Amino acid sequence: MRVSVLALQGASALHEAALRALGAETVPLRTPGDLDDVDAVVLPGGESTTISMMLERNGLFEPLAARLGAGLPAFGTCAGMILLADEVLDGRPDQRSFAAIDVAVRRNAFGRQVDSFEADLRIEGLDGGDFPAVFIRAPVIERAGPDVEVLAAVDGRPVLCRQGPVLVAAFHPELSDDLRLHRLFLDHVTSLGPVLADRATAD
Ligand code: GLN
Repeated sequence: MRVSVLALQGASALHEAALRALGAETVPLRTPGDLDDVDAVVLPGGESTTISMMLERNGLFEPLAARLGAGLPAFGTCAGMILLADEVLDGRPDQRSFAAIDVAVRRNAFGRQVDSFEADLRIEGLDGGDFPAVFIRAPVIERAGPDVEVLAAVDGRPVLCRQGPVLVAAFHPELSDDLRLHRLFLDHVTSLGPVLADRATAD
């Protein structure tokens, strides 16, 4: 499996390392050509306003939007989750998102006094006990549409959700020494099979 990891800003190297440890081939995503022949994409954390601007500057926003619209599987973490969301609350007015998953996310939702924290998450469908999740100026999911599965929550607020081929996490799974969430994503991509429509659109 070939996975493109957005590498304009933020922590792409640790995501690539996790995916490679699980046997996937990875490609840093910097130009539209880096999307050729990939089976999935990962959007790491960072600063969603900056990433949104850089996606446009690099001519990547529209090509990535087209691939996502055609069903390319995606895993967005923290700022990456914000970029995949249908609606962004407390965003900058010029900040764009792909609307690839029917959720509304609020940026920096856990408040200043808890800028960063770790939480042991019980994740639906994940064997081997709680997942040690690292949250850094994390967003939260304030609304999840009827077709969205909530796989984990903190204090009743969803922080890990999936809809079809799109998985989003409010935290940074690449910072935990635990590959289970990346494996969950890759297994899900495999179970979906090849995305024929999206290969056709890419031509
Ligand atoms: N607060 C950041 C944003 O709004 C996300 C933080 C992160 O990715 N760790 O984009």
